[in-house]
Amino acid sequence: MFDLLAQEQVRDVHFKYDPASGLRAIIAIHSTKFGPALGGCRFISYDSEDRALNDALRLARGMSYKAVLAKIPQGGGKSVILKPASYDPEKLFLAFGDFVNELGGRYITAIDSGTSAAEMDIIARRTRHVTSTSYETNPSDFTAEGVFAGITVACQQVLANESLTGVHVALQGLGNVGFQLAQRLRKAGATLTVADIDENRVRQAVDQLGAQAVSADKIYAVDCDVFSPCGLGGVINDQTLPQLKCKMIAGSANNQLLTEEHGKLLHQRNILYAPDYVINAGGLIYASMHHNGFDNHDIAHKSQEISVTLAEIFNASKAQEKPTSVIADTLAEARLFGLSNSENKRRSQGVDFSRRSGGEVA
Ligand code: NAD
Repeated sequence: MFDLLAQEQVRDVHFKYDPASGLRAIIAIHSTKFGPALGGCRFISYDSEDRALNDALRLARGMSYKAVLAKIPQGGGKSVILKPASYDPEKLFLAFGDFVNELGGRYITAIDSGTSAAEMDIIARRTRHVTSTSYETNPSDFTAEGVFAGITVACQQVLANESLTGVHVALQGLGNVGFQLAQRLRKAGATLTVADIDENRVRQAVDQLGAQAVSADKIYAVDCDVFSPCGLGGVINDQTLPQLKCKMIAGSANNQLLTEEHGKLLHQRNILYAPDYVINAGGLIYASMHHNGFDNHDIAHKSQEISVTLAEIFNASKAQEKPTSVIADTLAEARLFGLSNSENKRRSQGVDFSRRSGGEVA
């Protein structure tokens, strides 16, 4: 157990079993160095308790990296509720609200796979350490805006384009984020090829946005400028990578690279990758700032920093001839664990921020 915590560098893990509601939940807190840990509550079925714990630890760490590069005053945390065979949602999420409340604000919960504003509203009856309730703006708006800005920066880097007019984007997944992104791209004059396993969403994009549709398995091979994964994780893998004909990858999906190695392979193939947890931080920025009392105008202003951070990462990658994924991880680790620790890490990865040129990264 503690080896696992050491591996993911998670500081503390909390377990709750509540027989009355059937709640079996885990809250993992990776870091509170820059503020309370903020991260979603995942409510799905797990094959085993070990898998649930692994998920919580890995996801909590990811949230720390995302928060630290978004420069928001939050740490990284995540919770999972093991989905019971049968349950009363109200009892279950009230009990989870009590669990969150017991931690006194060290962890703030939010929507994740299997939860929605409806569950957050129930949790909010028991704790104030909750975001993404139905009284708030859908964070996907801010995520889509951040990804749109990130695609614009990537195109400036690779195509030296100031506008997206005529830029061809292959967009995978037309859900909350993907469809809004498609609307913004279309408005900016981009050409769209889209795929989704939901035919209705594809039809909507074709009818309303003039997009070309391809089947879900053909989206990787579209000859385009930007491939934008906005559906599921792990889409850059041994099967898809040889098919890619894009110049850039920039989308909202979490954990797009199946392994770290795939980030290196993209770099070798000269495909510019916008690290997922940097480009998709808009929703987290919204959740954090709204929770801390800022209005949407301030939040939109802060979200513009996503493109600044991305430009810095792209420039550092170019100057040091290192994958953008390695640059982003190293930068996050340097901020999280301190320069002396990251020094070792940098050496082992061969990343050198002292040779930085073309933009401040640290
Ligand atoms: P969503 O569930 O609303 O949309 C996902 C879409 O992808 C759906 O339309 C689904 O049918 C489609 N899809 C699933 N499998 C597919 C496949 N094999 N091929 C093509 N399409 C497929 O989710 P969302 O909120 O839009 O989030 C999209 C991604 O962005 C997820 O990976 C999510 O974790 C990540 N993300 C979302 C936010 C946010 O604010 N919503 C923030 C950060 C990261």
